Amino acid sequence: MPELPEVETTVAGLNAEVRGKRIVAVWTDYRSSFHATKENIKNPYYFAKFKQVIVGAKILETKRRGKNILINLDNGHTILIHMKMTGHLLIGQYTFNRTTNTWYPTVAHGPLTDPFNRFVHLVFTLSNTKRLAFSDLRKFATVYFFKTKNASNINDLKRLGPDPLTKEFTFAKMQERLLRRANGKIKQVLMNQEIIAGIGNIYSDEMLWRASIHPLSMVKKIPPRALRKLYAAMREVLRKGIDFGGDSDSDYRNIHGERGNFQSKHNAYRRTSKPCSRRGCTGTIRRIVIGGRSAHFCDQHQTHY
Ligand SMILES: [Zn+2]
Repeated sequence: MPELPEVETTVAGLNAEVRGKRIVAVWTDYRSSFHATKENIKNPYYFAKFKQVIVGAKILETKRRGKNILINLDNGHTILIHMKMTGHLLIGQYTFNRTTNTWYPTVAHGPLTDPFNRFVHLVFTLSNTKRLAFSDLRKFATVYFFKTKNASNINDLKRLGPDPLTKEFTFAKMQERLLRRANGKIKQVLMNQEIIAGIGNIYSDEMLWRASIHPLSMVKKIPPRALRKLYAAMREVLRKGIDFGGDSDSDYRNIHGERGNFQSKHNAYRRTSKPCSRRGCTGTIRRIVIGGRSAHFCDQHQTHY
């Protein structure tokens, strides 16, 4: 699932490419009887309303809140996109094929033709004739709109914890947030969006490896000196993820359809049975399952508090 660095990479791409463009049309083939009464575009009745509100509006700027993409429009509305497992936005020239009822990149080569970019289920046509397409293999994404001024009351946003890359996110802030789940296992607490927003499976594994903390450690037992290391590791790992254009170990692609490079920088995530890459460490990376999610860690240098 895209985490903070992937969403940040997408948002930066959107600000470079679609700011100031007008949405002239919107198309979807997301349709699900499960969503019949839901407030998201998978509900055809909701989609009709969505279309009415957003077509004609100009895109002001795009922001990130946790793992959510927020596209602010000039008509006082915001489009919220949560990419969930496999969703990602793509910008380019697309052509609709009436036989297959789907969109294809107009140019038949290049990154947009990558197999992971072919599951287009939502398309915004922009005033510069480009399309903003949303590829989503497993169709788990969430898309809806709200009045921008109501952002603080939106369920998906109001419960989110602070963003770990902001100036306000000090060491004391991190400590205070984590201690809200004092008896929790650190790996799970780090991934809890209500405690800290934006961290998922990949980056939690990597920051714990770097901070030498075992993923099963109980939060209240972790000494302050180790928490200080975690604080530094959290910010370093997330920034590195952004610097490398996100992680494409799974489906993630940037808005040009290209892979990020953070997957080649992993020290723990999905390195099961490999020797630990920390200098002087003779450990091996192990995989365990915590609350249905896998955790990868070094069996030597990560202390179980
Ligand atoms: Zn190690």
